[in-house]
Amino acid sequence: MNNELNEAMAQGKPIERRIQKTILVVDDTPGNIDMMLNILKEYDVIPATSGEEALFLLENETVDMILLDIMMPSMDGFEVCSRLKANEATREIPVIFITAKNDLDSIEKAYDAGGVDYVTKPFRPRELMARVKTHLHLREVIGKLDYLATHDSLTGLYNRRKFFELGRKLYNSSKSTVSAVIIDIDHFKRINDCHGHHSGDLVLKAVTKTIGALLPKQSVLGRVGGEEFAALIDACTMDDVKQLIDIIRITVSELIISIGGGAGLSCTISSGVARTGDGVASLDDLLKKADAALYEAKQSGRNRTIFRQSDTCTRQLPDE
Ligand code: GH3
Ligand code: MG
Ligand code: MG
Repeated sequence: MNNELNEAMAQGKPIERRIQKTILVVDDTPGNIDMMLNILKEYDVIPATSGEEALFLLENETVDMILLDIMMPSMDGFEVCSRLKANEATREIPVIFITAKNDLDSIEKAYDAGGVDYVTKPFRPRELMARVKTHLHLREVIGKLDYLATHDSLTGLYNRRKFFELGRKLYNSSKSTVSAVIIDIDHFKRINDCHGHHSGDLVLKAVTKTIGALLPKQSVLGRVGGEEFAALIDACTMDDVKQLIDIIRITVSELIISIGGGAGLSCTISSGVARTGDGVASLDDLLKKADAALYEAKQSGRNRTIFRQSDTCTRQLPDE
C-alpha cells in the first residue's frame, strides 16, 4: 500500500477524492494518446505506444486502470491483455478496450481475454469518463472486500485462510529450509478476565505489531487462532531462527502496553518452532510439529521456545 493511501486511511479521509489514480493508455497513434490526455485530465496518465512498451512499463509502474487499443503492430491488444491476466502482479488491473473494431467476434474475444469493458471509436468523451469512473470505483470496492476477506480486522495480520494460501506458496517454492513458528500469548484469558476484553484487544495489537516488525520482510505471518499466530520464515539458519525468536520473546516480555488511564500491562509468549527436514512431507506436517513444540513450551512453564528439527528437540528457556 502506498504512503498516501496509508495516510488517508489513518486519517479516515475519503480515499477516492484524495488519491490521484493512474491510468495507462496504450495506443499506437500519438493523436489518440493526446486526445486521451486531454479527456483524462483529472488522472495521472502514462502513455505507451505499443503493447511491448506497456508490458515493460508495468514491470515498474503501479497503475489503477489500462485503456487498451486492439489494433497495434507486432502485439495486438488481445495478446497484451492475455499476458496481463496471466501475470499475478497485473492480473487485477481493470482493462478497458478502446478500439475501432466493432464486430461481435472482437467484442467477445476482448472479454474472453479479461477485459472489463469495450468502447468503440469514435467514442463520446463523457461516456468514456463515466465508464472509467465506474470501473475505478468497482476496482476499489473489490480491493476493500479482498482486504476484508484476507486480513484479521483487529491486528491487520493475514487471517487463517490467507496465511495457509501464502504459506503453501512459500513452502512449495522454497529452495531452502523453511522454519514454522507458532506463537501463543501466555495466560491471555487472565488478561481478559482481570482487565477486560478491550484491554485484551490492545495486548493482541501490541504483541502482533512487535512480532511483525521483527520478522524478516519476506515471512508470512497470520493470526491462526484467538491469541495464536503462525509465521513461516524461508532460508534462515537454525541459529538465526533461534536468535530471532528469542529476540521476539524478550521484546514482547519487555513491552508495557498502555490500556488507558495511565495503566500498563505486560505479557509473555511461548513458541514452538519446526523446520523442514526428515519427517516433514507437507506444510501441515511442519505446522503440526511446531504446534507440538508449542504444547511442550506451555507444559514446561511458558515464556519459552521449543525448537524441533527432524527428530531432535532443543529448548530455549527464559533467563531466570
Ligand atoms: P495459555 O497460556 O495456555 O495459552 O492460556 P491462555 O489463557 O492464553 O489460553 P486460553 O486458550 O485458555 O484462552 C485464550 C483466550 O483468548 C480465550 C479467548 O476469550 C481469548 N480471545 C480470543 N480471541 C480474542 C480477541 O480477539 N480479543 C480478546 N480480548 N480475547 C480473545
Ligand atoms: Mg494463550
Ligand atoms: Mg491459545
